[in-house]
Amino acid sequence: MKLDTSPIAAIATAPGRGGIGVVRASGKSLAPLMTALFPDVTLAPRRATYLPFRSADGSIIDQGIALYFRGPHSYTGEDVLELQGHGGPVVLQMLLTRVLEAGVESGLRLAEPGEFTRRAYLNDKLDLAQAEAVADLIDASTEAAARSATQSLSGAFSKTVNKLVEQTIGLRMLVEATLDFPEEEIDFLEKSDARGQLAVIVDSLEAVFQQASQGALLREGLNVVLVGQPNVGKSSLLNALAGADVAIVTPIAGTTRDKVSETIQIEGIPLNIIDTAGIRLIDDQVDVVERIGIERTWGEVAKADVIMHLLDAAHGPARADDDIIKAFPDGIPVIRIWNKIDLSGHKPSVAEAADATHVYLSAHEHIGIDLLRAELLRIAGWQQTGESLFLARERHLIALRSARKHLQMAEAHAAQTDQSLDLFAEELRLAQAQLSSITGEFSSDDLLGVIFSRFCIGK
Ligand code: GDP
Repeated sequence: MKLDTSPIAAIATAPGRGGIGVVRASGKSLAPLMTALFPDVTLAPRRATYLPFRSADGSIIDQGIALYFRGPHSYTGEDVLELQGHGGPVVLQMLLTRVLEAGVESGLRLAEPGEFTRRAYLNDKLDLAQAEAVADLIDASTEAAARSATQSLSGAFSKTVNKLVEQTIGLRMLVEATLDFPEEEIDFLEKSDARGQLAVIVDSLEAVFQQASQGALLREGLNVVLVGQPNVGKSSLLNALAGADVAIVTPIAGTTRDKVSETIQIEGIPLNIIDTAGIRLIDDQVDVVERIGIERTWGEVAKADVIMHLLDAAHGPARADDDIIKAFPDGIPVIRIWNKIDLSGHKPSVAEAADATHVYLSAHEHIGIDLLRAELLRIAGWQQTGESLFLARERHLIALRSARKHLQMAEAHAAQTDQSLDLFAEELRLAQAQLSSITGEFSSDDLLGVIFSRFCIGK
C-alpha cells in the first residue's frame, strides 16, 4: 500500500455535546501547521499548553489545550497535534475548519475513516490484530467484550499468534535444510522428531483457536428470535433473563438491523433479541407494504441462531402457535419454553424432544431461569474455561482454521511411509502464511481497505 503521508485532520471525539472535544491532526511534519495556528507560541512535545484557538482574522474560536506529539512518539508514528476544546458540534466544526485552512499550504486534508489507526499500523505502531482491537474496544457492547478487546489491543493475541508463527518457522527451517541434502531425507522426520514438534504446534493452535472462538462469541453474541402470543410472558422473560445486571446493552456494532428490539447479556455474551411483534404468515390479506415488513422479519428469523418459542404452561398452545412454528426455517434449534409453571403445577425442568428442547419455568416467579440460561449458553457453544479470551473476528477464525487444516495435511504427509518432505514443507509454509495474515504481515491492500473503512472518521 502506498503510504500517503500528506497531513490529515478530523474531529476525534464522538458527535454530540460533551465537556471536551478533540480535533486531531497527523502528518510527517506538522511544524508549518503549528506555526500557522499559533504564530506566537512554540509547543513543546508532550506538554499541555493552554491557549486561545484563533481564526485567521485573530478572533477567538475557543480556549483550550494544545498537545503536540513529535513523531515517531505518537499514536500514528507521525507528528500528532491534538486540540482539546469544548465539546460542542458547532465549535468543533469551526475549529476543524480553521485547522484545515491553516494547513492548506502543507496539503492538510480531512482524514478518511480509520486513517489515524491505519497510519499507526503502516508505521508499525500496531499490528493488524491490534488495529482491529481498537475498533472492537470502541464498539464493545458488553464489559466482557471490552476486556477481551483490551487483551487483543495490548498485543496478547498477536503475541500468541506470533509464537505459533515462530514455532512453524523453526520447523520449516529444519525441514528445508534437509531438503537441500536429499541423501539425509530418509528417516529425517524420525531423527529430528519433526512429528513431535508438529504435534506441539497443532496443540498450541488448538488452544488459541478455543480462546479466539470463545472470544468471538463475546463479539458476535447469539441471535435469538422470541415468539409467543400476547401475554404469554415475553417481556417478563427478557427481564428475568437479563437478571441482576439489567444490562440493556447497545446493539452490536457493524450489523445494521432495522429490527433490533433489545439486547441483553448472559455471562457477557450479548443476546440479540429479534423482535417478532409483526411476525405473521403472508396470506391474501397482506398488502404490499406490510408484505415487505413481514418478509424482512422472516429474513431476520432465517439468520437466527436459536428460536425461543414461549407458551403458557397453564393454558397450552394456541392455534396460532402451531401455524407460526410450522413456518420456521429448518435447522435452527428451537427452545420451547413453557412459562407460568407456578400456575400449572409443572416442576422446573429441561426435556429434550425430537422437535425441540422443552424448558419449564416461571418468568414472573424467577423459577427455572437458570435452566434456560444454561441451555442458551450451551447452544452458543460457551465453555467457561476461566482463561482470558481474545475478541477474535471471523477473519481470524478463518485464518486459524485454515492454518489448522494445513498442519493436519502436514501431519498426514509425515505419517505416510514414503514421506514427501517437500509436500510437508509446503503445508507448513501455507500454515505460516495463514497465521501471519492475522497480524497483517502479508495482507493485501483490499483487506486493509475493508478493515479500516469500517472505522469512523477521527479514529
Ligand atoms: P408479553 O405480552 O408476552 O410480553 O407478556 P408479559 O411479560 O407482559 O406478561 C403478561 C402477564 O403475564 C403479566 O401480567 C405478567 O405478570 C404475567 N406473567 C408473566 N410470567 C408469569 C409467570 O411465570 N407466572 C405468572 N403467574 N404470571 C406471569
